[in-house]
Amino acid sequence: MKKLLVLLMLASVMSVTLGSLVPVNASAENLECPTPKSLMLHSWYGVKNTELLAKELIANDLVTYTYSQIYELYDNGKCAPKNAVLISLDDFYSVYENKVLFDMANVFVDCGLVMTLGLITRTESYKQDLDIWDKLKDLQKNGFEIASHSSNHYNPYDLDERGLRDEIVGSHEIVCEYLGKCPETYILPYGAGWDYDILLRIAGERYRSVVSIAGPSTYSGQFFVMKRTSPGDRTPSETIKYMEVAFPWFPQVNGENTVSRKVRKINKILSGLKVPY
Ligand SMILES: [Zn+2]
Repeated sequence: MKKLLVLLMLASVMSVTLGSLVPVNASAENLECPTPKSLMLHSWYGVKNTELLAKELIANDLVTYTYSQIYELYDNGKCAPKNAVLISLDDFYSVYENKVLFDMANVFVDCGLVMTLGLITRTESYKQDLDIWDKLKDLQKNGFEIASHSSNHYNPYDLDERGLRDEIVGSHEIVCEYLGKCPETYILPYGAGWDYDILLRIAGERYRSVVSIAGPSTYSGQFFVMKRTSPGDRTPSETIKYMEVAFPWFPQVNGENTVSRKVRKINKILSGLKVPY
């Protein structure tokens, strides 16, 4: 009994301490939301597919959101709306340009849609390309979010605390300096590390979320783990349907899906699953 009392006291002291460290927005307190549909794109997806995807998103009445917009909604006590879909495009570099990536991003600009861009910054020992930063600033003006995708795209599991800090904090500082706005989202290289406690602690100091491949079905509190999926070799039209299967907990726009249909689809997809990066 005495032990129990001591434990209870300890628990209450810890919760007070944690509570005073983390600022909590009153309206978002205790809010737990289903993780929204999220798709990761890379340069191999190409401009043509991006155009088709944009058309499909619009035809299906889906609305693109950035991760930052989801944080803002959450802080106002709201979950991601059921027509929301988060699209991210990875592997931009601020030290050399990948034209295909910018062409893909511009497809979304032309369609009035938004994306979250995953930027690899390298380090201060590299010469930053100011023309690229100008292009990123323009995209930001169009509602795009510029997320950090690390300094060097190392596998997080190969890094110790110091190495992780260089990747997570180092890239954060470069984005703050050159973009003029600090990144709120850390897109995990290889989608790996959401279960790596040191990584989460460091990311939690600077970011609002890490974006992972595996991840929980809900988000809450002041730091989120957001799950996303790859289109693989599906057509854009198949990808829209697949997202309903990959995020079965998220409210469906048409409300038609039943559990048994979902299970059948999941089995079908698992049998031919490909996860490229
Ligand atoms: Zn990447």
